[in-house]
Amino acid sequence: MMKKTIILSALLAGSMMAFAQEKAKPEDTEIWEPIPKVVTPGATFRDAPSDAIILFDGKNLDEWVQNSDGSPAKWDVKDGIITVNKNYGNIETKRKFNSYQLHLEWRVPANITGSGQARGNSGVFLASTGKGDAGYELQVLDSYNNKTYVNGMAGSLYKQAIPLANPGRKPGEWQTYDVIWNAPVFNEDGTVKTPAHATVFFNGVLVENNFELKGPTLYIGKPQYKAHGACPIKLQAHGDKSEPLSFRNIWVREL
Ligand code: MG
Repeated sequence: MMKKTIILSALLAGSMMAFAQEKAKPEDTEIWEPIPKVVTPGATFRDAPSDAIILFDGKNLDEWVQNSDGSPAKWDVKDGIITVNKNYGNIETKRKFNSYQLHLEWRVPANITGSGQARGNSGVFLASTGKGDAGYELQVLDSYNNKTYVNGMAGSLYKQAIPLANPGRKPGEWQTYDVIWNAPVFNEDGTVKTPAHATVFFNGVLVENNFELKGPTLYIGKPQYKAHGACPIKLQAHGDKSEPLSFRNIWVREL
């Protein structure tokens, strides 16, 4: 009796499988839920969409602190823009992020002087893992007729990824970065489960295409991952003597 039942069910399952194969329908592979959230896009590609966290809207640095000690950010806010104040070092967001979409705009002053890395140098640390320049830097630099190592020009992931193009505008003009940051994921023992990946549009042009980082960006030496959690986004006050850059319209969407 038992044996018969097993044979019968095996036969039935087999024939049902064949039946299912023959009768496959388009609906079988349609996914209906969960429904993606409706988001109202901005009027232009630069305007923050409805679900963005506004990190700077031209008014104040309420979302920012000094990277060195967590005190209120001391860079200059005037006429709707932030200008780096090199006396006070890097600033970073109060909030911590994992993966996100980021928009920001930056401008090298029209009267910029210097050359190479000492000409309009700043940076966006996509994840700030500590003080100073610890983290993963998307380079900001005047790369308009300014020669430097290509893995250190604007649009580079510093010393790891050369930009795919140079769509940089002249000093004095506003430029945009749109970034998709997929934060690294670590196993419980601290080893890397998934490395960080970055996609970067510079003035609307793809310059980094889902680039896999080898670890935090370093001035000297070879990168190596060290486990971390959610991190602030940090802006660099570079130590060179050239005139300070400005930023505006900074927003982020968590992924
Ligand atoms: Mg820099």
